[in-house]
Amino acid sequence: MAFEIVTVPCLSDNYAFLVRSDRTDETALVDVPEAGPVLAALDARGWRLTEVWLTHHHADHVQGLDAVRERWPEIAVTGAAADARRLPPLDRAVGDGDRFDFAGAAVQVLDVSGHTVGHVAYHLPAAHAVFTADSLMALGCGRLFEGTPPMMWESLQKIAGLPADTIVYSGHEYTAANARFALTIEPDNAALVARARAVEAARAAGRPTVPSSLAEELATNPFLRAGLPEVKTAISMAEAADAEVFAEIRARKDAF
Ligand code: ZN
Ligand code: FE
Repeated sequence: MAFEIVTVPCLSDNYAFLVRSDRTDETALVDVPEAGPVLAALDARGWRLTEVWLTHHHADHVQGLDAVRERWPEIAVTGAAADARRLPPLDRAVGDGDRFDFAGAAVQVLDVSGHTVGHVAYHLPAAHAVFTADSLMALGCGRLFEGTPPMMWESLQKIAGLPADTIVYSGHEYTAANARFALTIEPDNAALVARARAVEAARAAGRPTVPSSLAEELATNPFLRAGLPEVKTAISMAEAADAEVFAEIRARKDAF
């Protein structure tokens, strides 16, 4: 079973993703920041859009849906049951731990509340892919508009527990700014220093830094690393609980 995943840049710094099964000729779209680039990416490949997986209710993740549906009226829309009142009408309402079938493969739903309450991620083990949008991001995590630090910390732990070779498809190109912040937390993390350089080079060349691998996030992302003794020591919180350290790092980023 083979899946092809295409990153579609949208708006100024959003990403949507197309997930195509070459076996069944079905294509899923993860989030809809805008219709134009998504429809163009489908047309360029001659792909047939069959479903949409929404991660959370923010406009920059859902607002292109109606225009996409004008072109592909049969699409089935999946999103969080817990947030159905704020999402477009759903054909499939899902929650934490649910699985559904896509082209003969299982998609596992993770509740990753924090940025919003009701934010979900979609894990497609057959493709070693997780679609995290504004929960875990490349070298960062989403701002906590609705949830609490302990809630986001717990959400990040679910993603951290996936296989390390999982590829993380997050929702925004924020990585360069995230790297500059991460270096204030762990200036001596050699993997982070190297990644920050690679991110600068990629952006200078106009290349996306999304997706990334979970292994590299575990090695460099300060929000995932808040439970590690070396990170706690680095910010003088050696005795603090993991979620408190996460909260402090998140607060520093908000003020960065
Ligand atoms: Zn958002
Ligand atoms: Fe967003």
